[in-house]
Amino acid sequence: DLLVTGASGHLGKAVLAHLIETLKVPAARIVATSRKPGDLGDWAARGVTVRKADYDHPSELAAAFTGIKRLLLISTDALDEPGKRLRQHKAAIEAADKAGVAHVVYTSLPDAQNSLVSFAPDHAGTEAAIKASGIAGHTLLRNSWYSENVLHALPHALETGKWFTAAGKGGVSYIARDDLGLAAAAALTSNFSGKRTLSLYGEKAWTVDEVAELARNATGKPLAVVQVSVEDLVQGMTGAGTPEPVARVFASFDAATAAGNLAGSPEDFEALTGRVPQPFAEWFANNAVPVL
Ligand code: NDP
Repeated sequence: DLLVTGASGHLGKAVLAHLIETLKVPAARIVATSRKPGDLGDWAARGVTVRKADYDHPSELAAAFTGIKRLLLISTDALDEPGKRLRQHKAAIEAADKAGVAHVVYTSLPDAQNSLVSFAPDHAGTEAAIKASGIAGHTLLRNSWYSENVLHALPHALETGKWFTAAGKGGVSYIARDDLGLAAAAALTSNFSGKRTLSLYGEKAWTVDEVAELARNATGKPLAVVQVSVEDLVQGMTGAGTPEPVARVFASFDAATAAGNLAGSPEDFEALTGRVPQPFAEWFANNAVPVL
């Protein structure tokens, strides 16, 4: 009666692991879907029902969602062609509604309606579509930035000794992806049947200066933070070979950070899971330092 979409992705795998190992949900209650069900063999061997579901093929979603009471809709890749993601999510919501799903859990982003993150409208549009659907209940999980995201910019910054950013003094309340997996698993198994929006942040906001200090202390390498404008950041990235549309998406993260869109506190996470999020510095020491 519980379904996890996108089960072969990083977050999907963490959700399944927490459902079974942390929350002790019997595997027989769980359906896992993916575009590549063949990749879910290990879960099938543990007793999870595996089905194929691709939001790009709406006709097959009805069968995939049959018999499901609570469904986790994991958002798709933000860097895909504009408009595609919202179309995909709407197809999934319509299919869930038709299949009689009673509660949908969705992975959104903080401050979805106002965020300067370039693809925030995909999330705001999906939230609106869920609210407008006939599905009785929903939990919108506004997932903050993964701790893992620091590994996009940091390795290159440490190589060159310079971290170019347009985030200014803005901070990001990073949260480990595994914690977000636990939160989604908790929302899926909760007996909450109404409508709620939860913002899932790590323990505190970290500025680029503070993350750079962690990295300097851990690696002993020099690293200077260089504040530039959003436009200069885009120019720098395109100059280094990043396609402009991608550079604009990444630069928008800094604009959102400067605007405070990604900073918040962990109360919703703690209320949902009964735990405190893993402190970012601890995550950094265990996961980032070994690869930097
Ligand atoms: P992954 O790149 O590991 O996974 C991508 C996910 O998208 C998979 O679950 C995949 O499912 C699913 N997907 C893609 N296309 C389709 C489709 N047509 N139909 C159904 N499912 C599809 O990302 P993560 O697991 O790390 O993150 C999950 C989502 O969270 C991302 O897709 C993105 O929307 C968002 N995200 C958030 C970040 C943050 O910092 N808050 C950072 C990065 C991503 P499968 O392959 O099993 O079909």
